[in-house]
Amino acid sequence: MNAPNKSGWKPEMNAADDGMHNGPKTVTGNRALMLEEPLLFEIGHVGNTGVDLPEPTGGANRLGGFDRSDAIGLPGLTEPETMRHYTRLSRQNYAIDLGLFPLGSCTMKHNPRLNEKVARMPGFADVHPLQPVSTVRGALEVINELAHWLIELTGMHGVAMSPKAGAHGELCGILCIRAALEARGDAREVILVPESAHGTNPATAAFAGYRVEDIPANSDGRVDLEALKARLGPDVAGVMITNPNTCGLFERDMKAISDAVHAAGGFVYCDGANFNAIVGKVRPGDLGVDAMHINLHKTFSTPHGGGGPGSGPVVLSEALSPFGPLPYTARTKDGVVHLVEEESADSFSEEHFGGRMQSFGRMTAFHGQMGMFTRALTYILSHGADGLAQVAEDAVLNANYILRSLEDLLDAPFGHSGPCMHEAIFGDKGFEGGLSTLDLAKALIDEGYHPMTMYFPLVVHGAMLIEPTETESKAGLDQFIAALRGVAERARAGDESMKQAPYYAPRRRLDETQAARKPVLAWEEPSPPAGTPTLSEQGGS
Ligand SMILES: *Cc1c(COP(=O)(O)O)cnc(C)c1O
Repeated sequence: MNAPNKSGWKPEMNAADDGMHNGPKTVTGNRALMLEEPLLFEIGHVGNTGVDLPEPTGGANRLGGFDRSDAIGLPGLTEPETMRHYTRLSRQNYAIDLGLFPLGSCTMKHNPRLNEKVARMPGFADVHPLQPVSTVRGALEVINELAHWLIELTGMHGVAMSPKAGAHGELCGILCIRAALEARGDAREVILVPESAHGTNPATAAFAGYRVEDIPANSDGRVDLEALKARLGPDVAGVMITNPNTCGLFERDMKAISDAVHAAGGFVYCDGANFNAIVGKVRPGDLGVDAMHINLHKTFSTPHGGGGPGSGPVVLSEALSPFGPLPYTARTKDGVVHLVEEESADSFSEEHFGGRMQSFGRMTAFHGQMGMFTRALTYILSHGADGLAQVAEDAVLNANYILRSLEDLLDAPFGHSGPCMHEAIFGDKGFEGGLSTLDLAKALIDEGYHPMTMYFPLVVHGAMLIEPTETESKAGLDQFIAALRGVAERARAGDESMKQAPYYAPRRRLDETQAARKPVLAWEEPSPPAGTPTLSEQGGS
């Protein structure tokens, strides 16, 4: 096959050829073992394939006239070409298995391999949600055991296991609140959300049909209790409060907030994304929380998975449990946790519940992310109660080590508020020469680190939110701190060269505004030299 050279990449796209490096230009554009990689469409050819099947013969055409009449236009590659394509691309990615991932609020901790081993056991990995219940007793037992731990660790009454992310859990919790209010004929319209909240909080409240109002923060970075109390009234359905909050601070007034909200007839939603800072130390149920999501991919070390296999179970108070989505797990009167599910029936269809419960409905078709449940339970059982408390202690210790190691160079707006929890926050005060948080973050890429969370929370100018997690060693933290001190010093000195960073990444600085405003989402075949067949003209099957 004479595939035309359709490759669209040019050696000058490679950082090695930007004049910033002293080495010679390479013919390939590769830099030693860092290989350039064009798009699949640029290297593929319709005539290529990884399998060798004979043309089908005989047999009646059963497509009923819906046969494809023109070529499908998908690139064809051999199996080794395909492997190399994806492996090369993966080497241009940063990953938690490569180094420290300081993204604040995201809790990018090591994913223990024991979790993976257990999740791959065929009895867990191969179950199908439509199997007869009698054949998945073990899987249900895992869900129940994990539910037991989540209820125990949070001091709550029930837990909805099915939500598939933190944001999904938020929606679940707010829908429970709405169902509970509707059940008592109480139409309330407003959800109060602190200024520092994660964007998903107001989005969730708005999506569930509520009007969102801000609660101001005090100068310590915590919710202003008096301002909150002053706003409460018969129109307030509830509050959504993150604890520890997104400034990395524990909301010390949480119990007083809950009492005030309950006295005004509302409910308390707690965003539990930061639960890793207090797991084994504080039970949100004791603080009057009615609903809280737990991001298994944060606190309990399951992979984040690029928007894929997240899991966000929602623990519920006794008042909200009856309204939870099916199936859910709750405590019986004698304290035993059980799955509110089939009554010895063979499936999980709604009919089995009849009208006997007040559930608002379903969040998902089935029980949730089984693969994440097995991983999270493995993590919990391998740590034990004492180990989980140590997770919180070490996460907080590591964050404070970062806060105190950098506050002489980077502005720490809440450094005066006492120790932080699991994340340290800095602002851009003191940067010279028009340099910004973005420039510092790009320079950090050249030092071999994924940047921290930037410009969030909004209450800090040029915010840099750093969460090391408990899985980093002191040596690893010291290396990261040294890198960060280096770029912070350059920012304070107004080092112009930072505006062009990154220099060493596979791609240089991108026009992020342009990329967001005018995203190019589909590959277009470049016009070939005259006489070359285009991909869609190459035919093939
Ligand atoms: C991560 C996070 C969320 C959203 O959780 P997802 O699992 O990403 O949907 C909500 N609030 C806070 C504070 C978070 O850090």
